[in-house]
Amino acid sequence: MVIKVGVLELQGDFALHHRALKNIGISSCSVKQRHDLEQLDGLIIPGGESTTISLLIDSSDLRNSLIKFGKNKPIMGTCAGLILMAKIVTDDRVKPLGFINVEIDRNAYGRQIESRQLQVEYKIGSKNSFTRTTSLIRAPKITSTGSEVSIIGKYNDSPVAVLEKHFLGLAFHPELDEVGIFHKILFDSKSSVYYKKNYS
Ligand code: GLN
Repeated sequence: MVIKVGVLELQGDFALHHRALKNIGISSCSVKQRHDLEQLDGLIIPGGESTTISLLIDSSDLRNSLIKFGKNKPIMGTCAGLILMAKIVTDDRVKPLGFINVEIDRNAYGRQIESRQLQVEYKIGSKNSFTRTTSLIRAPKITSTGSEVSIIGKYNDSPVAVLEKHFLGLAFHPELDEVGIFHKILFDSKSSVYYKKNYS
């Protein structure tokens, strides 16, 4: 099966996601316009500035195409990407795509100078548990989650990684720390059945 994953390149930290995908043998390409989404099996919405990415999604006329893409293709959002994947953001300058039923408080872990690198234990379903370096950089806090959302990692009692169907939202930047497991979990197979088969 050929898997090709796009990285949304409107603004932010997109370059290192190509490296993360290459490291696990997945080919990637840049997404800047609607037609870039054709022929892709998955998408990453990177970290950056969610207010800017939100504006650029609309000025590039990408909103409906992204929503349509998300109907059956896996999407990962890291940091600002998570904010854009949320249902509710308590900052009306961001118009999120509504993929994951969580509420988000932007920048709730503090300013850039309060960035932190942690070791967090993650667990998906009942089988797998793994600890990975987790960098929070002006990170969003997930303040509430719907019942259909699986929390796969927490820091100080707040979720930092959530999974809902074929959507993975991370409050941190795995690509900065060469942590490849999340890219692998989401994109190793096209189907969300993958999680059920392997992790529950
Ligand atoms: N604070 C940024 C925002 O709200 C996200 C920061 C990041 O992506 N590292 O968009």
